[in-house]
Amino acid sequence: MSEVCRFAPSTTGPAHLGTLAAALLCWLDARSRGARLVLRLEDLDPDRCRPEFARAIEEDLAWLGLDFDERVEQHARRAHHEAAMDRLEALGALYPCSATREEVRAIGRRAPDGGFAYDNRARGRALPPGGWRASVEPIRARLPDGVFRPLDEGGLDLSQEPALAMGDPVVRRRDGAFSYQLAVVVDDGAAGVTRVVRGRDIAPSTATQAALQALLGLPAPVYRHHLLLLEERGGKLAKTHGAARGAALARSAPALTGALACCVGLRERPDPCTPAELLREFDWSRVATADRVVSLRDGSLTLTASGP
Ligand code: GLU
Repeated sequence: MSEVCRFAPSTTGPAHLGTLAAALLCWLDARSRGARLVLRLEDLDPDRCRPEFARAIEEDLAWLGLDFDERVEQHARRAHHEAAMDRLEALGALYPCSATREEVRAIGRRAPDGGFAYDNRARGRALPPGGWRASVEPIRARLPDGVFRPLDEGGLDLSQEPALAMGDPVVRRRDGAFSYQLAVVVDDGAAGVTRVVRGRDIAPSTATQAALQALLGLPAPVYRHHLLLLEERGGKLAKTHGAARGAALARSAPALTGALACCVGLRERPDPCTPAELLREFDWSRVATADRVVSLRDGSLTLTASGP
């Protein structure tokens, strides 16, 4: 069976250096294995996603020389997300719960992703007579009990009891949008994704996704969660760094590719290079495992330290 990989940026802002480093690693992984590579623009959040951000991200990826075999806009897959909701409803796994983010925070139980765990308090509630479509409340999916152990090729321990550690996830929000957790599982399944390469910040969600895959009868991909590029203050590189291409450093795509390769540990020096050149020497054993702190100074991307 041939392998299928995907890169799935959220279209909540222009690409930043972390986005492009993640895209480069995903592309190198897929191309080095002869896998099919899907670009999925995750644009379901009506408050934060903008078509112009999607366009800007795609332009940056193309400018960098990263190509894809298929392009998916997640909002266009609504019928599939609805079908998954119908399936979950038929399994009796859906229930409404109007608990707000603040109320979940007030429960006071920390979750492995740094947020707060939901305590499944509304599990006993039924959907209204018209089913999930008739509910004006957020809807959660009751996860199966027990520990899930998704496989991380890089050796990260992803085992977790998601129903307890994170709590049942929201699958449809109050505003009617389907959640990331539902859509990622449905869309990875539909595209036949066999390998998920993504940043380590999402690792704590993997067991929840494995539990939803089990409910929906979808196969589990193999995962590889890679290092993150951090800001000097220690946080994940964020949109505050602005569009990477707009940075003074990005005078040429090879200059930025070389700097990114150095940031993730593929090259010792940030000499200009192309993704195709990196592909010839690519191996995950050459990629740094610890997160890297980077800073933009005087128009050049400086790796200030290894590790946060
Ligand atoms: N859309 C998510 C992000 O940009 C990534 C989702 C995934 O790779 O599963 O952080």
